[in-house]
Amino acid sequence: MTWERFRPYAVPGTFVVLLFVALWWRRPSTPVSSKTRLVSIAGRIFGTTYQVKVVSAKDIEKPKLQYRIRMLLHEIDMQMSTYKKQSVLSRFNRWRKTEPFPVSSALTHVVREAKRIAQATGGAFDVTIGPMVNLWGFGPKPFLRPPPARSIADVRRRIGHEKLQIHLKDSTLRKTHPSLYVDLSAIAKGYAVDRVTLLLQNRGFRRTMVEIGGELRVQGTNAQNQPWRIGIEKPVDAQQQVRRIVALRDAAMATSGNYRNYRMLDGRRVSHIIDPRTAQPVPAHLAAVSVIHRDCMTADALATALFVLGPVQGFALAKKQGWAALFQLPKAQGVAQKATPNFQKWLDKTQTSLSTSKNNSR
Ligand code: AMP
Ligand code: MG
Repeated sequence: MTWERFRPYAVPGTFVVLLFVALWWRRPSTPVSSKTRLVSIAGRIFGTTYQVKVVSAKDIEKPKLQYRIRMLLHEIDMQMSTYKKQSVLSRFNRWRKTEPFPVSSALTHVVREAKRIAQATGGAFDVTIGPMVNLWGFGPKPFLRPPPARSIADVRRRIGHEKLQIHLKDSTLRKTHPSLYVDLSAIAKGYAVDRVTLLLQNRGFRRTMVEIGGELRVQGTNAQNQPWRIGIEKPVDAQQQVRRIVALRDAAMATSGNYRNYRMLDGRRVSHIIDPRTAQPVPAHLAAVSVIHRDCMTADALATALFVLGPVQGFALAKKQGWAALFQLPKAQGVAQKATPNFQKWLDKTQTSLSTSKNNSR
């Protein structure tokens, strides 16, 4: 009988089957990476682009998330834009009175941080610089001639962050000069990056990357379970060449430079960033400054402030305050870099992270 022929194998055979079942039962759980999803969302806001990446093991309803992000950014734009005539900030700028003007708590929050950075940088950062920015042709109305000295002197009288007051309790802003004009372009993108990050955090996402017009913030690790790799551009005429990689985790990075947004006036490059101390565009001694900070609003404001202060004064202040900043300076051939000790730490960590991931992939 056929059964008799197989009888000697019955016990070891059953053992093998049982062993197989036991091993299958005790199998290690599927690696997280094969379950994780990467969702990318992109769009346009504040006259620039944005990008959001979410790594998650749970399902993500992309259209819903996309809609929420878009609505949030639109809401921020309707409060802080100087390009949208109906934004709260535009209405405040048209308000020619010195009585308190009601705004949202988001606006007082950003203005409060702007004033803090203004004080910490000796006035290099100043959100009331708007009329001077506009005078140099970088506002809503571009023009291509250097402004006359008289107009500069006239505009100078109505700028200064100390002329802008905040009342946190009743959520109002007040001008002490009726024609004060506030421009939050140097800080609002960073604020919006933080708000989108918070939105994602509140929905339980802890591995995210949010970027708006070059200002960004990351949480946790990327889809490869590594710190997020961020390229720092080579600041040469908007060619968007990546010069350096920095591996970031739970941090934000912002960059200010005159390589993307500048004008040629009388044969010289004029920066869109104005030095409030001289009322002149920042000279071309610097190509770009990148700042790494816990939150993106502060990183954004500091990058602009350090760009104004320049490679000597700015570097000394950043070092003294323990800010992580990378200064990129134009040289006859290429660009030189100068990192503060706290920025250097990130570069060193990046080296370690890059070599570890190389070894792991072998
Ligand atoms: P960012 O790209 O963040 O450095 O911001 C640059 C923008 O901030 C400019 O286009 C101006 O609208 C505005 N801005 C220019 N100079 C200053 C300054 N000294 N402080 C604050 N904002 C400024
Ligand atoms: Mg900025």
